[in-house]
Amino acid sequence: MGKNAFERALARLDQAANHVEIPAETFKRLHFPKAILSVSIPVRRDDGSLEVYQGYRVQHSDLLGPCKGGLRYHPDVDLDEVKALAFWMTCKCAIMNLPYGGAKGGVAVDPKDLSMLELERLSRGFIRRIADFIGPEVDIPAPDVYTNERIMGWMMDEYSDVVRRRSPAVITGKPLALGGSAGRAGATGRGGYFCLRELARERDWKAEDIRIAIHGFGNAGQSIARLLHEDGYKVVAVSDSCGGIINKEGLDIPEVIKGKTAGRKVEQVYCQDSVCDQDGVDVISNEELLTLDVDVLIPAALDDVITGDNAGDIRADVILELANGPTTMEADRVLDERNITVIPDILANAGGVTVSYYEWVQNRTGDYWSEDEVDQRLEKRMREQFAAVMELADDLELSFREAAYCLALKRLSAAAEAMGTQALFNGKN
Ligand code: GLU
Repeated sequence: MGKNAFERALARLDQAANHVEIPAETFKRLHFPKAILSVSIPVRRDDGSLEVYQGYRVQHSDLLGPCKGGLRYHPDVDLDEVKALAFWMTCKCAIMNLPYGGAKGGVAVDPKDLSMLELERLSRGFIRRIADFIGPEVDIPAPDVYTNERIMGWMMDEYSDVVRRRSPAVITGKPLALGGSAGRAGATGRGGYFCLRELARERDWKAEDIRIAIHGFGNAGQSIARLLHEDGYKVVAVSDSCGGIINKEGLDIPEVIKGKTAGRKVEQVYCQDSVCDQDGVDVISNEELLTLDVDVLIPAALDDVITGDNAGDIRADVILELANGPTTMEADRVLDERNITVIPDILANAGGVTVSYYEWVQNRTGDYWSEDEVDQRLEKRMREQFAAVMELADDLELSFREAAYCLALKRLSAAAEAMGTQALFNGKN
């Protein structure tokens, strides 16, 4: 039988283990999630019927601090996937040097099928079910796929009711009015943008020569598209779950975002307007977008989109992983052989959790920062950790992905070793 999502995620860690000297005990710890909670959430639908949804929260590790990670709403959510996502959070927080472990949660639901009131009932119901399991010093959720700041606001409000004290620090990615941080909404995209800018500096790129395709046009995809467009990069193609659009001369990103956020699908931004057809905008499929002849491909949607089947057809020189787990291990091997640079998810999309950390710090101190201050702190941290990964990749002749895992392992192992290893207990240390 094939490996499940969690086992596949751990295989990457085992691979990195060959390159760093880490006590075997550290791996042992990381192979087992700290705790898993599985809940059912009964929700009264607007027509009076009752639906029961399955939800999960997995705390993978608290070696470096309280567990941290998002909550997703998606029909495909299952426990193994949530365990893999929680493990990636452990690695991500370690790479960014945040005082956090890793966690993740989710509900198996198609949120687009729910009315706003049903969504609120589901979100509050989920939090009531997991309230004993989370907390500002224990486990701090945040947004992820198909959850957003409004949902985080409902959840914080519900948790506060359950514990009988206002607890903004229990959850991050909240609306500004409920204790959210300036700069959190665009932080995942902004973090990825800083990574790409560092690489561009290394490689002496001229923005206007670089063509970019973005697979997934949610929060992260839109935010990086806007920043790259402002810098003069040519974002030639973007897609969402319904399909994609392409303009070889570069899309008018602010217009595409306007159309998308007005509640329309990406294609309709252009297809409704015949002038745009004259500008040479074509509709393409998501599969076509992934193999376009571009310089940079940004998967910003779901996991496992670049696989052994299509990795040989990818024509980008650089892949910046804004989604979690978009590339399978089989694809990794093919991309490596073909010298395609991959800036891995656990580094490229870490801007989100980094600003979540800033939000948590602000909630706990009561001292709130300006958007400029948040962005500057994010930039500094992303650049430092990007440099740390690059240095390790150079020193050990590793891919960025292997180097990122090695860096995470070193930091996690330092905490594990501080509590003593076999050598200490045998009197050899
Ligand atoms: N869901 C985001 C991620 O996968 C953010 C997590 C957080 O802010 O805690 O990194």
